[in-house]
This record gives sequence, C-alpha cells and structure tokens, in this order.
Amino acid sequence: MQQYTSQQVSQTLKDKGLRVTPQRFAVYANLLARGDHPTAEQILTDLNQDAPQSSQATVYSALQALRKVGLVREVLLEEGVSRYDANVRPHHHFRCRGCGAIEDIPWDLFQSIQLPDLRPGLRAERYEVTVEGLCDRCPELAEAES
Ligand SMILES: [Zn+2]
Ligand SMILES: [Zn+2]
Repeated sequence: MQQYTSQQVSQTLKDKGLRVTPQRFAVYANLLARGDHPTAEQILTDLNQDAPQSSQATVYSALQALRKVGLVREVLLEEGVSRYDANVRPHHHFRCRGCGAIEDIPWDLFQSIQLPDLRPGLRAERYEVTVEGLCDRCPELAEAES
C-alpha cells in the first residue's frame, strides 16, 4: 500500500488550501496503522486512548479534509456504515459476513474481468469487486453451517 510521509501529507493539504492540523495527521496515521477500514467512531476511540482530546466533530472534519485531498477514501460496503481507507489506489475488498472484517484485495486479482456490455446508453468506466465470505477468524460459523 502506498503510504505518504507526514511531509507529503502536509504538502497535499497545503496545496489544496486546507489547514494542516495535528488531528488530521493523527487520523491519517491511525488509518494507516489499522488498515482495517475503521468507522469514524473506531478512529475516535483509538485516538482518545492515547490522549482524550479528540471529539467526533474533529475526527469527522479531519476525515472530510483528507478525503477532499485524495489521501483517504470512504468505503461503503454495508448500508448506512461509512468506513475509511488510506489505500486510495484501485483495489477490491473482501468482507467477512461473520465478523464484518474488511480486507483489501489486490487490483490485479480481478484484472481479467471483462466489463460487460451494458445496455446502449450506459458507458462502463470502472468497477470494484466486493467478495463476501468468512475470514480465518470465523471458523466456528463455517463449521456450524456444514
Ligand atoms: Zn470474520
Ligand atoms: Zn480498502
């Protein structure tokens, strides 16, 4: 995964006319460290473990700023749940239906998929695959079903 240095992060924010704040750094660093597509609430819990000084509003505004400059993207794999991803390069996702964990799947794995012919008038430009299943931390569920 492409990781930006703190210098690149602050330069990117500055280039787009956004302020560089400790919260924005902290949120970005947390996303990189976790790599598991957390929600804003999970990020807030993490940040407040070190120093209880972040509010939901600061985390949200940091996420919006990072999204705006293209350092972070929002991932919507469940209805009504926004998750965040510091991997902004094209990739797919695996979602465990047992524990809800979300993992990145390299783009190349599905490179051979052909975009289907859609009805006339629709022009396909990009696609993303979400694979659903069970992760290796959820074997009980798989056994219970078999
Ligand atoms: Zn799982
Ligand atoms: Zn991802």
